[in-house]
Amino acid sequence: MTADNQRLLILWDVDGTLVRGAADAHGRALEIATAEAIGAEVPAVQSIDPGGRTDREIVRILAAEAGVEADDFAPHADGVITRAVEIYGATVEPDLSGCVLPGVEAMLAELAPRDDLIMGLLTGNIDRVAALKLGSAGIAHHFDFASGAFGSDHEDRTRLPQLARFRAARGDGEWPRGRTVVIGDTTRDIACARADRVGVICVATGPQPADDLVEADAVASHAGELAAIIEQLVVRLPSA
Ligand SMILES: [Mg+2]
Repeated sequence: MTADNQRLLILWDVDGTLVRGAADAHGRALEIATAEAIGAEVPAVQSIDPGGRTDREIVRILAAEAGVEADDFAPHADGVITRAVEIYGATVEPDLSGCVLPGVEAMLAELAPRDDLIMGLLTGNIDRVAALKLGSAGIAHHFDFASGAFGSDHEDRTRLPQLARFRAARGDGEWPRGRTVVIGDTTRDIACARADRVGVICVATGPQPADDLVEADAVASHAGELAAIIEQLVVRLPSA
């Protein structure tokens, strides 16, 4: 076994990083739950540049687009998240395996069994939405959901890496920044990693081209390149 303090905590984004095109029922659940709460029509999630945003941020923006200001929406926010999970649970596509991005399954099969890696999550998805979505995609079993932070935890994605590190440490402080890396597909993933001063790898399989992602520590063009990039990172880490 690799000693706990020598393991690398990987915080995986979901949409655009592991799966693509798996947000139809998810988006509708956010739209319906928000519209119900405010009693007004809301725009489509896809119209508000959702990549890298948290679900709490998305529903607040949907409400604002419908004329409900943040202060007026805030008392509804928790209820909207709960209701969105209910709706998504009833409507999630039964088989999202076709949405798993090329190379992801082979990459996960290689990385997930390694005892020097912790396969955490850092996604704007509500926690239960992430579990249902990755379950329908057939890849949920590769991840440690208890070592993660989600769009249900906080609207501000930049708050999520520290929360994930806290959870990964299981009551023993926080997982070290130098042994944590975020993997995502947008500049918002980069910004959240920089805010917590942890590493960040981008994969250009989401809405933004590789040229937009050059501020990351490394950029992969597809999932098949990630294992080698992670290996380089592990080799460079100090041994304690
Ligand atoms: Mg993403």
